[in-house]
Amino acid sequence: MTKKNYHMSPAQFREEGKKMIDWIADYYEQVENYPVLSQVEPGDIRKDLPNAAPAQGESFDAMMQDVEQLIMPGITHWQSPNFFAYFPANTSGPSILGELLSAGLGVQGMLWATSPACTELESQVMDWLVDMMDLPQYFKTTQNGGGVIQDTASNALLTAMLCAREMKTNFETNRIGGCPKIVAYISSQTHSSAEKDIKVIGVGTQNLRTIEVDENFAMIPEKLEAQIRKDLEEGYIPFFVCGTIGTTSSNAVDPIREIGEICRRYDIWMHVDAAMAGSASVCPEQRTAFDGLELAKSYAFNPHKWMFTNFDCDCFFVSDKSVLIKTLSVLPEYLKNEATATGAVIDYRDWHLQLGRRFRALKLWFVIRHYGVEGLQYHIREHIRLAGEFSKWVNESNDFELLNEPPFNLVCFRHKNNDAFNKKLIHSLNTSGKIYLTHTVLNGQFWLRMSIGQTQTELKHVQDAWRLIGEKSQSIS
Ligand SMILES: *Cc1c(COP(=O)(O)O)cnc(C)c1O
Repeated sequence: MTKKNYHMSPAQFREEGKKMIDWIADYYEQVENYPVLSQVEPGDIRKDLPNAAPAQGESFDAMMQDVEQLIMPGITHWQSPNFFAYFPANTSGPSILGELLSAGLGVQGMLWATSPACTELESQVMDWLVDMMDLPQYFKTTQNGGGVIQDTASNALLTAMLCAREMKTNFETNRIGGCPKIVAYISSQTHSSAEKDIKVIGVGTQNLRTIEVDENFAMIPEKLEAQIRKDLEEGYIPFFVCGTIGTTSSNAVDPIREIGEICRRYDIWMHVDAAMAGSASVCPEQRTAFDGLELAKSYAFNPHKWMFTNFDCDCFFVSDKSVLIKTLSVLPEYLKNEATATGAVIDYRDWHLQLGRRFRALKLWFVIRHYGVEGLQYHIREHIRLAGEFSKWVNESNDFELLNEPPFNLVCFRHKNNDAFNKKLIHSLNTSGKIYLTHTVLNGQFWLRMSIGQTQTELKHVQDAWRLIGEKSQSIS
């Protein structure tokens, strides 16, 4: 008698898997028919889910039925071409298939030895990106530096901060703990993860200085230097500055070269966060915003925002990998192996916080190979062009105004009426289900953000959105 087992057989996997691919393809064909922003109320999804796990296994059909009936109403359709909220988290066919293959191989790539291809493909693709995007050559793994895929830009920033702390304290904080009087610098527009990260590394938010920005929401270098001098006089030790190319609120660009020169003068680690806008540097004509990047000790951007690679995929580069490894390396007995001992291989476990790691390079590799540099450039230019078109319509209208010339692919605009009016407008747009926009507050005013970077977004979607914005604004009293 054969012993009963509960696994899904390869034959059943093949059958269900094909259906799943069909389901996803159908979804992409119909994604425009769903309300972009999920319209459910808190608790709506959970109340229809069973209170206990099933004692007996269920059929795959039953699960997919529940996906359609119980889960889909609670989905906000990030992959809709009418998604203009936040920043995109776009994806694409080759990325989804790469993710599937990664799950299928089920590799845990913590060490070179635990799957050499997982490490070596990642190093190679990260080095490709250096050339594709004209990043500093020493970010290459074949040189002093190196690139690694992290889960998020937030954790890349955290890793950079840790390295900066250790550099500044001769790797002593790692050993003795506690914290000397070190201080970090961001602008008022830096991503909120910096504030979280300063807590995590034990330096504390009172040692995080917020530098003023100019009329373009870019950090003012003179203010940065003045604050550094003041801190030095008071006995503080400046250790970290985060510059941003493409701030979350308005895509503002900090003057990276000037900030970098200040950092060099005072021996401070400059991290550059280009989570969203980083993808733009695949286009040579966008690279002026990246001027001075060779002064950065670390740099991160997110293919999971604007390079057709599904979440999560953050590319993190350092100019000197030995600092990163010295900061994070630990070698317990159970991880010792010959390849590591020879020093001839990269063990990516030492390049980020966690030990285990997925084979994320596959999806990025698939994306780059599917589109080619030319394809990536084409689509990124298209998004930037559409943002330009949209801002032209705003400019030409009597009722709406622009915050500024849109940097890259984000347009901040508002109805000339007051904040209350604009809040009503965005509410009526988002509850219509037809488009989804989010807002920010800048110069004390409420601004709508039109973020154009979804994989399927074309001119007609942007035109429809503009028409709807006009119509809805007419019907607000
Ligand atoms: C989105 C964003 C982040 C955070 O990205 P995660 O990968 O979700 O952590 C950080 N910095 C900037 C500038 C961003 O726009």
